[in-house]
Parts: sequence; C-alpha cells; structure tokens
Amino acid sequence: MSSSAYHSREVHISAAYDKDLRLDRLAQIEKLRLLYQQSFSAIFVSLFSAALICMVLWQVQEKSVLLGWFFILLLASAARVSLFVRYWKIRPGTESLLAWEKPYFLTLLSSSLIWGLGAVVILPEGSEIHQVIVYSFLIGMSGGAIAMYSAHRAMTLATIACILLPTTFWFLLQGTIISTTLALAALLFIVTTVRAGQVLSSTMHRSFRLGYELQDARDAAERRAYTDALTGLSNRRAFYQQGEEMLAECKEDGWQLAMIISDVDYFKNINDTWGHHCGDVVLKAVAEVQQGCLRSDDLCARLGGEEFGVLLLVNDREQAREVAEALRCSLEDAKITCGDHEIPVAASFGVAVGGKSLESLFKRADAALYRAKETGRNRVVCCIGKNEQESGRRR
Ligand code: GH3
Ligand code: MG
Ligand code: MG
Repeated sequence: MSSSAYHSREVHISAAYDKDLRLDRLAQIEKLRLLYQQSFSAIFVSLFSAALICMVLWQVQEKSVLLGWFFILLLASAARVSLFVRYWKIRPGTESLLAWEKPYFLTLLSSSLIWGLGAVVILPEGSEIHQVIVYSFLIGMSGGAIAMYSAHRAMTLATIACILLPTTFWFLLQGTIISTTLALAALLFIVTTVRAGQVLSSTMHRSFRLGYELQDARDAAERRAYTDALTGLSNRRAFYQQGEEMLAECKEDGWQLAMIISDVDYFKNINDTWGHHCGDVVLKAVAEVQQGCLRSDDLCARLGGEEFGVLLLVNDREQAREVAEALRCSLEDAKITCGDHEIPVAASFGVAVGGKSLESLFKRADAALYRAKETGRNRVVCCIGKNEQESGRRR
C-alpha cells in the first residue's frame, strides 16, 4: 500500500474513532441528564425509610444514636436537594453537563455511606428481628438504587456496595446461623443486582447512542439532499427553499431580494478542449470564486450544469448590479488551472430585484441572463422592467 493510501486510511480510522468517542460521550451525557431528571424523589424515599426505621427501633436503640444518624442523613439529603435545585435552575446544556457528574456522584456516595455505615451503628445488638427489619430496608434501598441509578454502572455499583456491604460484614462477623445466612443471601443479591445493573446500563447506553447515530444519519441525508455534490454549494432545491425564506424576511424588514443567475460562457468548449475532468475542476473553481466574493448571509447555489444562482438582500438594484459585476470581474481575473493548463473562464450574469414571488424574480433574472448571452456574453444585464441595463465587456 502506498504511503498516501496509508495516510488516508489513518485519517479515516481516526475520524471513525473520533465519531465513536463523540457518540459515547453524548450517550453518557444523556444518561446523566436522565439521572438528574428522575432521581429527585429518591431523596425523599430515603428520608422516609430512615424515619420508619427510627420509629421501629425507638424502643430498642438509644434515641440519641437514632436521632444523630437521622440528622446526618438529613444534612446529606439537603446537600443533594440543593444540587438538584441548582441543576434545575441552570439546566446545563450538553457541553457543560459532564461537569455535573462528580457532584452527583459524591453526594449520592455520601448518602449511601451514611446509610450503610449508619445501619451498623443503629442495629440493636440483642434483637434479631429488628436486625432483619433494618437489613430488609437496606436490601430494598439497594433494589431501588438499581432502578434509579442504572443509567450509570459505577454509580449503581458504588451505591449498592456502600449501602449493603458494611452490614453484610457485620452479619458475617456475628457468626450465628441466621446472621451468616442473611449475609450470604445479601451477597447473592449484590452479585445478581450488580449484573442486572450492568445489563440495564449498557442497554441504555446503546439505545441513547443509537438515537444519536440516527440523528447523525438523518442530518447527513438532509445535508446531501440540499447540497450540490460536485461544488459543495447549495443545490437548486436549497436555493428555492431559502429563497422563499429570504423573500418573507425582506417583506418584514424592508429589504429587497436580489437574484443573480450566471452561466459559464462556452463551457462546452472547455469540456471539449481539456476534458470532462477539467470541466469539473472549472465548475469547482467558479463556485469558490463566487462564494469568495459574497457575504456570509448571501446564498450561492449551483442550479445545475454550469449555471449558478445567488440570492442576497439589497437596498436597491444598483447594489445588486455591483455585486454581479464584482462576481463577473473576479471570474474573469481568476487563474483557474487544471494540471498544467490555465483555463480562461468567463460567465454571463442576469440580475433581477424585488417582486412579489420568487418565481417571477427567477423569470426576470433568467430573461436578463438570456439577454446577456444574446448581446455578447461575459457581461451583466440587469432586468428593469421592459428595458435592461447592461455592463461588462465582451471577450
Ligand atoms: P453558453 O455560452 O451558451 O452557455 O454555451 P455553453 O457551451 O456554456 O453551454 P451548453 O449548454 O452548450 O453546454 C453546457 C455543457 O455543460 C454541456 C454539458 O455537457 C456540460 N456539463 C453540464 N454539467 C456538467 C458537469 O457537471 N461537469 C462537466 N464537466 N460538464 C457539465
Ligand atoms: Mg454556458
Ligand atoms: Mg447553461
């Protein structure tokens, strides 16, 4: 394989890699958005469950221990609520959303740790039934974590580990049959839920990614439908569509819509003399030259063959004529080469300004172009009703 082929293959692979990374990043951002949108209620479920546990243990555990634990959990929940409120106020866009991942993760992790470590502290030593009740709450919280946080695999894993592992070890250390059975059951639960979390998370990732892939494909198809493949300019369809929009715009703002249609002179000769490939090179160059003369708001399109169209908003006809004249001169002066050949290029221009419809504007510009061809080519003819104003010079 030649070095240039290697290079182009490398560029292709790197573009595919970049696209892959971009899609993964977008999917990750969507998952994070989902977390912020759906898990606000989890804070209240967590506080409500903690209150229920305190009620159940009120008679069998020190009240100061229970209240202390509940208070710390309340503080952590307040931090989470304030994070969510800030999120809803700012509503960060796609670019800045990833910066919100860390605070979400940290506040969730601290709440989960308060649950997991706190549970070991509040478990009443002498009452197995109360221990089982607390443990079942922890398992319920972990199950909820799968549903709430499965969009983020690491978050689900960390949350479940923080909530369940401290108590599970505590039960293992107790060494009774019941406590060991509970601990083993919890470990089994952790393994299966973590696996379920992984499956959910990757399925979600794939579906978000697919959504973006579809959107990319739709955008590309739309771009192709409105772009001329050879020159990269807008095509005829885009010309008419945007023309209607510009016409509506100038009706509101008091501008006039001008249309400049141009046709390369004796283009067939160029094809015949230097070949079709050079004809294509000339068309690309003509597109570039015209585009280079225009403002960013002006529209330049290839209408077909060697015919180009420009739409622009102007104050008056004279301004449009000046632009057309500038286009003509630039083409005439352009040094267009194909291989070793320099190819002289000129074009004729028809200009029309104002009018009620795009169709009538096109008809008048086309008639002016016809006059430009008829009266010698390489010139600008401006349509002014029955008379036409001409400029430019013959070759
Ligand atoms: P005039 O000054 O009257 O416009 O003469 P012309 O030779 O430019 O016009 P004519 O309509 O006789 O020929 C246009 C030629 O443009 C014929 C066609 O084969 C060629 N053409 C159309 N599309 C393309 C294209 O995409 N690439 C190339 N290389 N040639 C094209
Ligand atoms: Mg022509
Ligand atoms: Mg033509």
